[in-house]
Amino acid sequence: MSDTHRDDLFVQDDRPDRMEEECGVFGVYATGEDVARITYFGLHALQHRGQESAGIAVADGHTLMVVKNLGLVAQVFSEGDLDSLQGHLAVGHTRYSTTGASRKWENAQPMISAIGPNTIALAHNGNLVNTASLREQLSTLGVRFRSTTDSEVMVRLVDHFTQQHDSIRGGIRDAMRLMRGAYSVVMMSESALYAFRDPYGVRPLVIGRLPGEKGWVFASETCALDIIGAEVIRDVAPGELIRVKGGVLEAEQAVPPEKPSLCIFEFVYFARPDSILQERTVYEARRSQGMALAHTAPVEADMVIGVPDSGIPGAVGYAQGSGIPYGEGLVKNRYVGRTFISPTQSIRQQGIRMKLNPLRHIIKGQRIVVVDDSIVRGNTSKKLVQLLRDAGATEVHMRLTSPPVVWPCFYGIDTDSQDQLIAATHSVEEIAEFIGADSVAYLPLDDLIASTGRPAEEFCSACFSGDYPIDVPDSIRRGKLRLEQNA
Ligand code: SF4
Repeated sequence: MSDTHRDDLFVQDDRPDRMEEECGVFGVYATGEDVARITYFGLHALQHRGQESAGIAVADGHTLMVVKNLGLVAQVFSEGDLDSLQGHLAVGHTRYSTTGASRKWENAQPMISAIGPNTIALAHNGNLVNTASLREQLSTLGVRFRSTTDSEVMVRLVDHFTQQHDSIRGGIRDAMRLMRGAYSVVMMSESALYAFRDPYGVRPLVIGRLPGEKGWVFASETCALDIIGAEVIRDVAPGELIRVKGGVLEAEQAVPPEKPSLCIFEFVYFARPDSILQERTVYEARRSQGMALAHTAPVEADMVIGVPDSGIPGAVGYAQGSGIPYGEGLVKNRYVGRTFISPTQSIRQQGIRMKLNPLRHIIKGQRIVVVDDSIVRGNTSKKLVQLLRDAGATEVHMRLTSPPVVWPCFYGIDTDSQDQLIAATHSVEEIAEFIGADSVAYLPLDDLIASTGRPAEEFCSACFSGDYPIDVPDSIRRGKLRLEQNA
């Protein structure tokens, strides 16, 4: 057996020790094109944003069809499925969720619903913070709900106002005035495609154009445009509503923009390194984060390695900034994913390790700087440090390309409650001791902001600062801010 196959890492845990993105969305309007396959490839590029379910809805002007299921994009759709989805407009979705109750077909998106005489399909990335009050208001009007998701509340809200205006666009506009929180949405009826984004612009949403001006595309990230050869046009602006009908794109400022608040964690971990956000390639931002870390947290060492995938550009930057050689010390098993075939408890106890293999002959006898994007609960970092020590590292210094995560997210990212975030309850020295590292150092927030090339005012960085740009109702805060209540 080769070294690379001997010490693979990580029992697959019930909950990943990560900030997890909730969703990727995609939409296309292109007459005469195979919109189902365009969407399929777009979703492949967005697979990292959600690995629990995937779905595509297609319409031909009269009928709207959907295929969706639990699983990865490649598992959900067959050639036959894509052949059956004929039309000229489509929306697609990849979904992540952690709770058992959410692992249900009904919660997979696009969500299909009737709005007046129309059928609509909606794909949402983000999280509304006033779901409960909107649901209550709609319930008093006699509206019935089938699920507990904020996406269904959104659909019912759009439905309610569409009936008043006799126009879906008018319905969306009024719904946007009432919805609070993060939402980047693509939605379609049988004949029109819509894209809209919350007035803070928390989650990304970009507009693209197919080659030869053959159609319009919307996606969570530019990497989903690249895969289908589409040109990036611009972001959907915060508070903007766009409709494409008859091949014509019409944009309006449906609600006034608020303080811009793009999630800074997109630059740390969520977005793919080849995507461009705020005119900055995510790879370059991550490399700068590593370079800044080399200056703020230097250490004597023999080699810098990165934790695949998000830690690699930061490790390259740390090596460049410090002069310490860069090495490939960890190999990722790329096809594990979040499947529904979980290891049984007995297999877990035998210590099956599924995600990373160390390259022993590279690590052995070396003082290692290992660069990762963040520490959330600390359990994964602890296993990683142990793995490197087992592989023969004489010292392990952990460097993080983000500040300590001390506040939970309410805008579409699955984080633990505050008392589960290790940095909220432990000092840096205690964290180093807990994970077994010789040293731990975090990137200061100012350096993280600087890595984006944009001013701090353009971002949400609440999970580091506690400064939430969109007010969060007490009923929701209470669930996650347990330390604040105990203070
Ligand atoms: S709280 Fe953190 S993860 Fe959530 S949107 Fe703000 S920066 Fe992103």
